[in-house]
Amino acid sequence: MNHTIAIDLGGTIVKIGLLKEGQLIDRKEVVAQSASGLKSQLPELEQEIDQMLLANQLHNKDVLGIGFSFAGLVDSVANRILSTNQKYDDGPDTDLVGWAREKWNWPLFAMNDARMALLGEWQHGAGQGCTELVAITLGTGIGSAVLIGGELLIGKHFQAGNLGGHFVVNHHGKVCTCGNVGCVEAEASTWRLPSLLKEHPAFDQSAIKNEEVLDFRALFRHAGNNDRVAKEVLDHCLSAWAAGIITMIHAFDPEIVILSGGIMKSSAIILPALQEKVNQLAWTPLGKVKLVEAKFPDSAALYGADYLVRSSMDNQ
Ligand SMILES: [Zn+2]
Repeated sequence: MNHTIAIDLGGTIVKIGLLKEGQLIDRKEVVAQSASGLKSQLPELEQEIDQMLLANQLHNKDVLGIGFSFAGLVDSVANRILSTNQKYDDGPDTDLVGWAREKWNWPLFAMNDARMALLGEWQHGAGQGCTELVAITLGTGIGSAVLIGGELLIGKHFQAGNLGGHFVVNHHGKVCTCGNVGCVEAEASTWRLPSLLKEHPAFDQSAIKNEEVLDFRALFRHAGNNDRVAKEVLDHCLSAWAAGIITMIHAFDPEIVILSGGIMKSSAIILPALQEKVNQLAWTPLGKVKLVEAKFPDSAALYGADYLVRSSMDNQ
């Protein structure tokens, strides 16, 4: 009984991992059907997991349990999804614990995906040896999680440390998907970027207007070509991210800040620029806080799920 199953349910893909003593020994990805709900996705997950067991010559009894990572608010005591945002909207009505018990007789432990990724980086990646961590995902949205004194920060309503993307950095800013105004996400994220560019007064004179997709890859390329609009919009995004990171540093006093997410594919540009702003602006008289790139941007949540299963069962 030294294996675990890890599921990372994202908005576009679902990752399934098989881990043995903390090592990822098999993985599979399937297309997420997030618009049609969670319950309708479960039969496909069952099939994939059964096939994975078969391919690795394992039986139900060889598996300790399932770690379930979800992009939304999760009650990690009752292992239930609490709140979703336009994806898997039947999540709160889905009995995941009952599903895993009935199908395989395994326990299931659920947690928010940013926290799960933080656990993975803490145990195996960029956060090894630390007890105080902030992890931030820069992508379609902006997620965050916090470790204090070697324990995940959870809060009364399971959302402490999770809403770093919704710290207000511009109170005159745009309306965010959360209903607030001028959140980090509403100032600089993949969903916000197209309108941010189009609102620039010189957009029509910029070569970036000919791009089919206005994404960060295009933004970095045009900024690298010295395009004025791209450079100014990039600087706006860097300032918004830095403001969010600095507030996380002021609030939670971490040893390091771990950054991951799709936008970090351009880490060679982003990381030094953000570090410079943080060094300049954060009030940390006892030392600069280092920003580091995640070691496992693609699989940290799977490692975290494995750790969650093991540590939860040790405590039972
Ligand atoms: Zn918001």
